[in-house]
Amino acid sequence: MSFDLQSRLAERRAAHLYRQRPLLDSPQGPEVVVDGQPLLAFCSNDYLGLANHPEVIRALQRGAEQWGVGGGASHLVIGHSGPHHALEEALAEFTGRPRALLFSTGYMANLAAVTALVGQGDTVLEDRLNHASLLDAGLLSGARFSRYLHNDAASLASRLEKATGNTLVVTDGVFSMDGDLADLPNLCTVAKAKGAWVMVDDAHGFGPLGANGGGIVEQFGLGLDDVQVLVGTLGKAFGTAGAFVAGSEELIETLIQFARPYIYTTSQPPAVACATLKSLELLRSEGWRREHLARLIARFREGAEAIGLALMDSPTPIQPILIGDSERAMKLSALLKARGILVGAIRPPTVPAGSARLRVTLSAAHSEAQLERLLEALAACWPEVRDA
Ligand SMILES: *Cc1c(COP(=O)(O)O)cnc(C)c1O
Repeated sequence: MSFDLQSRLAERRAAHLYRQRPLLDSPQGPEVVVDGQPLLAFCSNDYLGLANHPEVIRALQRGAEQWGVGGGASHLVIGHSGPHHALEEALAEFTGRPRALLFSTGYMANLAAVTALVGQGDTVLEDRLNHASLLDAGLLSGARFSRYLHNDAASLASRLEKATGNTLVVTDGVFSMDGDLADLPNLCTVAKAKGAWVMVDDAHGFGPLGANGGGIVEQFGLGLDDVQVLVGTLGKAFGTAGAFVAGSEELIETLIQFARPYIYTTSQPPAVACATLKSLELLRSEGWRREHLARLIARFREGAEAIGLALMDSPTPIQPILIGDSERAMKLSALLKARGILVGAIRPPTVPAGSARLRVTLSAAHSEAQLERLLEALAACWPEVRDA
């Protein structure tokens, strides 16, 4: 008996699925240095351009001066400091919910919420394209786990018929690899009819969506009666790190009492919470970031369609170009890189087999001229891949 890691790695390489980590030698922003090469990047989730914002940096620095660096302990011991608490109150107010609870990562927030709410004898129903952290959470919970067809309220309804115990319906708000929006009005209606709760992970909606950046629930005007568990992450449009769950007083207390991924981990550095308080302020007040982003999205879609690229049904800064074959997706990514443009190729198992794609993401930090550079490079490189 031995672990044959070598053949496992070789198989992955042969399937064009081998992954490598680009080494970033600069802060986040449209112009980055990767593996020593200056590149114009369209692959970060820093949708509003706040990850390297001078005021957010300053808030982090001041936070470190006042609160030190480490969180020191878990929230329940002695790690819950003033900035964490102030941020929770600000996020509750922002989402219009009684309370919010801060986590160190979105992955942990999802594990925490699902496993604290359902277990053996219960049911968790998930969109089949949900983020990996939600799928992992469903499996870990021990509840009966079933995936419904992507964004399909009828498919959800038929699974709800067979559900037992407490039932939690879980969906991404904006699907992270496709960029489309969950059909929340219909999903929530179907769930409500069966007394199921709805949990929405709006990692990619907070910031870009909603008049004030309040994400998909703001866009659709949905409240606590429709979406009982609302998750946001802070490492994307907020530009910092961490995540939150927002909901009722009872929900948040339940997480504090029972959610193991909340209880058994050190709090995030308080200075990071100071930085997020500042980025939340900018995210809410600087509507021009959302407006500029919306113009870039419209221009990208128009330009890409003119080139003949296959886009997806996405009104968000996530604008995938569907290629299909992993090798061809890698090729297009490499051709763009040779022209100084960085766009990540996303392959199975992150996306379903046969749906490899280039995941273009746009940011309010991109200029219109930078977007035109991307379109020109795509126009030049695409025929080579299409006709290969
Ligand atoms: C990025 C992401 C997460 C994980 O959040 P982290 O804070 O990066 O751990 C969870 N859900 C979705 C939909 C995401 O895109």
